[in-house]
Amino acid sequence: MVDSLEGYSYGALEQMLSSAGVNPVHAKPLFSAVQRRLVSKDLSAAEGILPPVARWLSTGNAPVLCPSKQTDCRPSGDGFTEKYMLRLADGAEVEAVRMGFSGRFTACLSTQVGCAMGCVFCATGQMGFSRHLTAGEIVAQAHHVERGLRESHGERLRNIVMMGMGEPLHNFEPVMEALGIITDNRGLNIGPARVAISTVGHIPGILKLARHPKRYSLAVSLHGASDEERGKLIPVNKKWPLAELIDACREYTVIKRARVFFAWTLIGGVNDSADHAFRLAELLKGIDAHVNLIPLNATEGYEGEASDETNVREFQGIIQASGLPSTVRQRRGIDVAAGCGQLKASRLIKW
Ligand code: SAH
Ligand code: SF4
Repeated sequence: MVDSLEGYSYGALEQMLSSAGVNPVHAKPLFSAVQRRLVSKDLSAAEGILPPVARWLSTGNAPVLCPSKQTDCRPSGDGFTEKYMLRLADGAEVEAVRMGFSGRFTACLSTQVGCAMGCVFCATGQMGFSRHLTAGEIVAQAHHVERGLRESHGERLRNIVMMGMGEPLHNFEPVMEALGIITDNRGLNIGPARVAISTVGHIPGILKLARHPKRYSLAVSLHGASDEERGKLIPVNKKWPLAELIDACREYTVIKRARVFFAWTLIGGVNDSADHAFRLAELLKGIDAHVNLIPLNATEGYEGEASDETNVREFQGIIQASGLPSTVRQRRGIDVAAGCGQLKASRLIKW
């Protein structure tokens, strides 16, 4: 499948121009127009695009810009989150979210349409899997968020989190391709340390990431400290059980000399007791880890509810006392269904 122009790295553009008989030096202005200035229409007429490239772009053989179209945009009442629904060329819809405040804006990107992992509490998991996104479709989401930021705030994106719809490590190559482009200093130039990849615990992907030349930040969704409990929330725990997952994470910390961020979604009466906190601390003993505690965002397809504030504080107190650093993440943008997959789910259900 031919990807959209946003999915071509600098090197790939040079190669493509060469094989089309165009001097590869033209990759520089073309990459800059697409990846830095974010030209969204009439590319052939953009600054720096000379006639040989303009002619090639009009041949019909050249890739085109991703035709993603915003079909919904919901600013949250908390002023912290804005959520976009983007329709892709084949009609599939994915979510991209802008979070944060001046100087610290973050884009949360999707990597697949739906997800094959089936986590019971997750709106995307409840939808099932449709398809992987291409590198271009992933980069185009970052462009969409950045364009909006430039227009509304005159600011730029500082961080990227791969925490939208889908499991990034199940779509490894396109995700790495997209991140290579997003972190290119001739493009959006977002430092690799400012990119977080969140995984359900896809062990082969974690091991590949540990050997990948760039050092992205790794977040692993845990939510349970025994195979039995975790398996009830995350069915793929059967394929990638906890002991092996923790070994893979340890390997990651050693090879990359970096800590792993573990996410623990707190569900009232399910995984938020003092006992759970003690067992989590035990599980992560000796690993360079940081735990992000996130009270559940309720979804239509799952009857669980968020833990109450007292349990959250007690849970955090226990793991902190054992020497495990942690942060309680606020559930931002609940009014715009900014939990993973929730805007799409609400459209499927109500509209
Ligand atoms: N597939 C990857 C990344 C996307 S999900 C992963 O699972 O890590 C991003 C994060 O949102 C994960 O930690 C996931 O467990 C969490 N999440 C999904 N649905 C949620 C919900 N309803 N409430 C709170 N967190 C949720
Ligand atoms: Fe997929 Fe992540 Fe949702 Fe699980 S939590 S279903 S892995 S998107």
